[in-house]
Amino acid sequence: MNDWRLQGQEKFLSAVVLQRKKYQLYRKGWDHDHCEFCGAKFSLEIAGSLEAGYATVDNYHWICDSCFDDFKEMFRWKISK
Ligand SMILES: [Zn+2]
Repeated sequence: MNDWRLQGQEKFLSAVVLQRKKYQLYRKGWDHDHCEFCGAKFSLEIAGSLEAGYATVDNYHWICDSCFDDFKEMFRWKISK
């Protein structure tokens, strides 16, 4: 698969556990994150940003719904509730 969004994320996102959730700040003082693939912005404060998506359990990595759908087989993500 040759896609501009793929830039080595398999090094840290292969077969990780993801949770679908409302955007949460990774830590205080942070106000947004970007989708690890397409760069779409996640924020509850910035207009036009995504307010929910898939994230690692620690809220450090965020993935938007469309990138999740496009790459879920390739990355073998496990979904946790
Ligand atoms: Zn994306």
